[in-house]
Amino acid sequence: MAKLLTLFTLLPKAHQITLSLLVILTTVILMFPSEDAQASKQTSLTSSSADKSAIETHKRYDIPLAFRTPTPPGKHSVEQDEPDVLLSSDDSSKLISGETPDDEAFAQHLAMLQTSTSDIDGMINDIDDQVAAQKALLKQQTANDDNIVEYFEVAKGDTLGGLFSRAGLSAKDVYDITQLPLAKKNLLKIMPGEEIAISKNEQGELQELTYRMDKVSTLVISHQNDEYKETVNVKKVESRTSFIAANIKSNFWNAAADAGLSGNHIMELANIFGWDVDFALDIRKGDHFALLFEQEYADGQFLRNGNILAAEFYNHGERYTAVRYTDGEYYSENGSSMRKAFLRSPVDFKYVSSNFNPRRLHPVTGQVKAHRGVDYVAAIGTPIKAAGKGKVIESSYNQYNGNYVFIKHNDTYTTKYLHLTKRKVKRGETVKQGQIIGTLGKTGRVTGAHLHYEFIVNGVHRNPRTISLPKSTPIDRKEKNKFTAISKQLMAQLKSNQQQQLASN
Ligand SMILES: [Zn+2]
Repeated sequence: MAKLLTLFTLLPKAHQITLSLLVILTTVILMFPSEDAQASKQTSLTSSSADKSAIETHKRYDIPLAFRTPTPPGKHSVEQDEPDVLLSSDDSSKLISGETPDDEAFAQHLAMLQTSTSDIDGMINDIDDQVAAQKALLKQQTANDDNIVEYFEVAKGDTLGGLFSRAGLSAKDVYDITQLPLAKKNLLKIMPGEEIAISKNEQGELQELTYRMDKVSTLVISHQNDEYKETVNVKKVESRTSFIAANIKSNFWNAAADAGLSGNHIMELANIFGWDVDFALDIRKGDHFALLFEQEYADGQFLRNGNILAAEFYNHGERYTAVRYTDGEYYSENGSSMRKAFLRSPVDFKYVSSNFNPRRLHPVTGQVKAHRGVDYVAAIGTPIKAAGKGKVIESSYNQYNGNYVFIKHNDTYTTKYLHLTKRKVKRGETVKQGQIIGTLGKTGRVTGAHLHYEFIVNGVHRNPRTISLPKSTPIDRKEKNKFTAISKQLMAQLKSNQQQQLASN
């Protein structure tokens, strides 16, 4: 280096200047990348912001399960101009779970259902799933290559203004957009975790904004020629028929939940057969059931559960069937109504602890039930339902019965409910079937909390769980042919599904 400097000083003045300029020029060229290099750098920046994160090789990425990669235009693509089309269940009845085009989604859905089985009220909507679905949809709509799309998640305590300013939008943008009625209604009440996709052109001007209103509808705000327009894209909703069958090993709830039935459907199934089967006390190991039910899908993604269409329940070897008719009521496969004058159990099965106990001991005497009623052991406060409609002939208290309610249904039938914590009806009042008449307790001569229930026919105590009850009105004669056709088709479908399941086991 020193030698070079000595050499430099020996050179004529003009040469020194030329050499210095050359050194400076080279340095400048080396410090700044070529135009090409700069351009390619920008491109990679662009694509990385569009994809939210650039994909690198030799790096592991966690991909959410519910994330769907965009599919080519076809059966699963977002059909933006399609109106909301609901396929009738008849059209899609060919689709059973084994043949659904989206087996994987169905399996995922079943797994999701199973995780939520502890929730009695059937909260099947998983927030993560919703967010993932939102992302998937927004991603699919990022078709425009020229624009840069960025996703902004609503943070806790975020306002629309805050989010817009993070997105580099002006106060005027916020003002103009919120002048649109749907934008005003939806964007001003955005919730944490929701996402807004913002698309800008190369000049950084807002081109399009999308917001997922629900699982089916997306609000799209477009900006062209200094004008904002809003539209709602609605996904196509299709109804599929699904099948579930199960054998009861420990209790009804677990068997149904393990098979993938949602909490709501479990309760619904118990209600459908609740006039014939006492789900609280009379379910036995080996009882089994099968059902067909509707599920709605939006562009192949699970949306919500629908109605139970048909079901079969074996209790103590006795077969019960139920078919949903167009009036929303359930009838047995041959058209007799499922509704009866009396519920088999005045207590919902989910509250009763001892499902399998063939020799239930009386809570007071400790002896096998030899008294004139049925005891339901459950927590204090459990709601007690009137087994049938009627008139309250007693609502009172004494030292033996504790708080008690007697209901006279007609000249033949009377029911009695003893040891209540609270009575919710007064003497002389008329009650509807299923109406809450009080809550379970341990008042009177008892050692533990339970409901003592008596069923009296013409003055004689009978077992409410086994007595044959009066038949209610069957399906209207005018409807009979139409019903029979539906019933035959559904029961055949139920049967073929069961055979398929048996064959695959
Ligand atoms: Zn008793």
